[in-house]
Amino acid sequence: MPPEVALEMARPIVHHRTPEFSAVLEQTRGRLKPLMGTAQEVLLLASSGTGAMEAVVTNLLAPGEAAIYVDGGKFGERWGRILGAFGIIAHPVKVAWGGAVRPEQIEQALRQYPGARAVLMQASETSTTAVHPVEQIGAITRARDVMLVVDGITSVGVFDQKMDQWGVDALVTGSQKALMLPPGLGIAALSPRAWERAAKPRSPRFYFDLNRELKAQRDEHTTAYTPAISLIYGLNKSLEMIHAEGLPAVFARHRLMARAAQAAARALGLELLAAENPAPGVTGILTPARIDGSRLVRYMRDVLGVTVQGGQDQMKGKLIRIGHMGYVAPFDILVAIGALELALRAEGYDFRIGAAVAAAQAEIAAGQS
Ligand SMILES: *Cc1c(COP(=O)(O)O)cnc(C)c1O
Repeated sequence: MPPEVALEMARPIVHHRTPEFSAVLEQTRGRLKPLMGTAQEVLLLASSGTGAMEAVVTNLLAPGEAAIYVDGGKFGERWGRILGAFGIIAHPVKVAWGGAVRPEQIEQALRQYPGARAVLMQASETSTTAVHPVEQIGAITRARDVMLVVDGITSVGVFDQKMDQWGVDALVTGSQKALMLPPGLGIAALSPRAWERAAKPRSPRFYFDLNRELKAQRDEHTTAYTPAISLIYGLNKSLEMIHAEGLPAVFARHRLMARAAQAAARALGLELLAAENPAPGVTGILTPARIDGSRLVRYMRDVLGVTVQGGQDQMKGKLIRIGHMGYVAPFDILVAIGALELALRAEGYDFRIGAAVAAAQAEIAAGQS
């Protein structure tokens, strides 16, 4: 989190039914639009990202309706669990961890379940460090009466999201990933046809009633309930910083960090989990045979003070995930890779010390020239 954002959040709190707060809310919502690639209203919710996921499900789908979701990691599974919790018939499209869904799989699922009203997916599946082809899926769903619902929690602010152009009907994100804030804000935007569906009450809902939020935020320049005021001030500041850097530069910085981390993995003789379609915001490196990834993560954190994540579920102990989204610069990758080298050495992995740091450094140097 940038110190500028921390300072902004430390300001004396304002009341949320004031012209002062309304002005900040309006500016913040406006500044989000280019990150999401939409001209539609962007709504802020007081919740983590999962709250925004739940909100779009309950506002777009009704119990007994069917939906298709991409099941290729922890967060894809979460779509399935949210759908199930609200009595929506959930049809998974299975994707091996690390892989990307193929558009033909979605076409096939739509033929198999012609009643499906929505396709739900991740733009970037953080648990497997893979990106899915949202644009190509949008070309399929926009031609039919099928909503495309996208979890952009580790893609908004990391790489270009063209919500309107790609035909995405709902795009959600959260505060604590690329937006450089503490957790606590959910963010959602809907397409015009999604707003038409949301206009008719669908599933049981109260707090996450997006129609009510739309009226409050668009027409009254405030939120339906008490907002997370400090987080919204912080978000306005982080968005100011993102726009000052410029979105093309922000996206290029993320691509460069990903290339540096990928080059480091290659130099170590290690494979990426998402070799074909690696995410720009997080790199997943498979740990060498006989080396426990959980021990590497613990050593890096407890001995070296460098925090990375391991794998979840089936990838537990087999994966190192280096997050490089948001308030991170290419040089930080050298720290992460340097620490990974020391952890691997401590676990007895045979390689030339410094090789991965050098590979990452060379990638960064090439990106600077
Ligand atoms: C982190 C994350 C979530 C969950 O968000 P919370 O803020 O923890 O509720 C959902 N989807 C993706 C892709 C994520 O990376």
